[in-house]
Amino acid sequence: MACTRPPSAPRNAISNVNETSVFLEWIPPADTGGRKDVSYYIACKKCNSHAGVCDECGGHVRYLPRQIGLKNTSVMMVDLLAHTNYTFEIEAVNGVSDLSPGARQYVSVNVTTNQAAPSPVTNVKKGKIAKNSISLSWQEPDRPNGIILEYEIKYFEKDQETSYTIIKSKETTITAEGLKPASVYVFQIRARTAAGYGVFSRRFEFETIPVSVAASSDQSQIPIIAVSVTVGVILLAVVIGFLLSGSCCECGCGRASSLCAVAHPSLIWRCGYSKAKQDPEEEKMHFHNGHIKLPGVRTYIDPHTYEDPNQAVHEFAKEIEASCITIERVIGAGEFGEVCSGRLKLPGKRELPVAIKTLKVGYTEKQRRDFLGEASIMGQFDHPNIIHLEGVVTKSKPVMIVTEYMENGSLDTFLKKNDGQFTVIQLVGMLRGIAAGMKYLSDMGYVHRDLAARNILINSNLVCKVSDFGLSRVLEDDPEAAYTTRGGKIPIRWTAPEAIAFRKFTSASDVWSYGIVMWEVVSYGERPYWEMTNQDVIKAVEEGYRLPSPMDCPAALYQLMLDCWQKERNSRPKFDEIVSMLDKLIRNPSSLKTLVNASSRVSNLLAEHGSLGSGAYRSVGEWLEAIKMGRYTEIFMENGYSSMDAVAQVTLEDLRRLGVTLVGHQKKIMNSLQEMKVQLVNGMVPL
Ligand code: AMP
Repeated sequence: MACTRPPSAPRNAISNVNETSVFLEWIPPADTGGRKDVSYYIACKKCNSHAGVCDECGGHVRYLPRQIGLKNTSVMMVDLLAHTNYTFEIEAVNGVSDLSPGARQYVSVNVTTNQAAPSPVTNVKKGKIAKNSISLSWQEPDRPNGIILEYEIKYFEKDQETSYTIIKSKETTITAEGLKPASVYVFQIRARTAAGYGVFSRRFEFETIPVSVAASSDQSQIPIIAVSVTVGVILLAVVIGFLLSGSCCECGCGRASSLCAVAHPSLIWRCGYSKAKQDPEEEKMHFHNGHIKLPGVRTYIDPHTYEDPNQAVHEFAKEIEASCITIERVIGAGEFGEVCSGRLKLPGKRELPVAIKTLKVGYTEKQRRDFLGEASIMGQFDHPNIIHLEGVVTKSKPVMIVTEYMENGSLDTFLKKNDGQFTVIQLVGMLRGIAAGMKYLSDMGYVHRDLAARNILINSNLVCKVSDFGLSRVLEDDPEAAYTTRGGKIPIRWTAPEAIAFRKFTSASDVWSYGIVMWEVVSYGERPYWEMTNQDVIKAVEEGYRLPSPMDCPAALYQLMLDCWQKERNSRPKFDEIVSMLDKLIRNPSSLKTLVNASSRVSNLLAEHGSLGSGAYRSVGEWLEAIKMGRYTEIFMENGYSSMDAVAQVTLEDLRRLGVTLVGHQKKIMNSLQEMKVQLVNGMVPL
């Protein structure tokens, strides 16, 4: 019997980086060594790109499901360090590998991890405790994953969690003042880096000392304390009453009224919540959706609520000196002027690549306000999947908005340019990022209204970030936006029916748009509803038709799209549910292997809508020529597809059988067929 051998190396390894996790996938070796017991081993090396040296990764890395003896052709590594170059070597081994003196057969993958939020603060110590104050100190988190910009300390009286205070500190010590004597207070701390906030620490409880202990030193203050506590409690009750009735803004939007400020410092944020632009039902979501949105939780403030818009800009955006910016080249055109790439060098900071939006000369005051409005909104957000604002230049001309630079530009163009180039896991990684950004926005109470792949930016690590913020401007600016019968300007193909019909823009209508973005991503930037007119789209959607599954789409993703397109907006998933669902799919990639059946995808349309008929093309040849696929005319004719009616029955399997093996050609033909069917019947997949 012939000897068996070690297997050859695994093939086509690909990676997907998500913050400090890396997912690897590969295909089995071409030569299994004549045995059936192939398994895989992952070697991990941490590399210093400058010195060109690599060390073993050490014990902090976790491998899911395991590092050795992997039977499946995928693995996930978690708890890697942020901003670190790693090399993973995937080795195929079998029962005789250890006996072979030959070199190891492996494929290696180099990745750089992204920035992750800091790990929780674990070590909190009490310092000086008095009757009205508690001092605390703590240590930096074990894994800061970047430079800690500040800490957020949340505290509240035990069992009174509905009213808490937030203090921010750049130091690792604070003193909480204005506390009640002899009361237990609960403290939680979290750190923030450029990647956003980490999770809060566990709860630490400390008790202020009783008045009697401190009485000898300040007897005289007791009546004042009694009065101020009583007044405080009354005011707090009044404000909570406002909150519960959903009418916090009665206490003065935009400018925090003295009532709010006195009652509770952290309520200032709450009162900034926009009455003018946000929907009353959205407000209800915060207050009555099973849990009360706590005062102190950051909420988006509509810059329109500022009498002077300049004040909003300076509150939320840092002023940058024009001399710190070097403009390098023009990369795009915005509504207000050119978009350029360049570099930002702030004193004492590392030089950064940035995108610079400029306001063209000769602008009106309204244009300046609208242009800077975007910065006032963007500056309130701090999340790895939301485009980050570095600052604004308003004191010199041209007026500029400076943001982080996203090397791959807008997602729709990027996907069109790289048609068919990504693994499903990479596409799901992009979608996960967008959903995480949207979850953050919806938690902040911000409704985007113009979520579409063209408004997502993507960087060199394939991290997607939500961009294009504005109010009325967003829709004015978007070439996709069309006027509705009610006068509003709306990007019809991306917008939920209730938002088109009666301008009901909510986070649930953003979820609808997110479903369309999912469709755009999986179909590599295809135009939703192809060339149907806006009126036809509105009619088809109203009649219950939905976009069909893109080609080669995992069934789980298409189901999620359909869920986002539920007519009843409360039945659509929430963004946090979408994020968890996508995380589950990423953790269990085999769940993405079941694709929407290609033939059912087509016959679905056929069953409902009949055949193509004579349509726009007189012959198969004419049709194939029109889509630049004329080279297949002969094959089609020879195999019995000689009429447009016969062509209507073609499935993806048929194309493969006919020898149309190039994915790009398959897509062109199938999409053209689908488009013709949609045009013919003015409908899509019925729900
Ligand atoms: P906008 O006015 O935001 O739609 O920007 C116009 C175009 O400029 C976009 O479609 C992008 O191609 C490009 N762009 C805008 N912001 C950035 C950025 N931060 N990084 C890279 N490209 C950008």
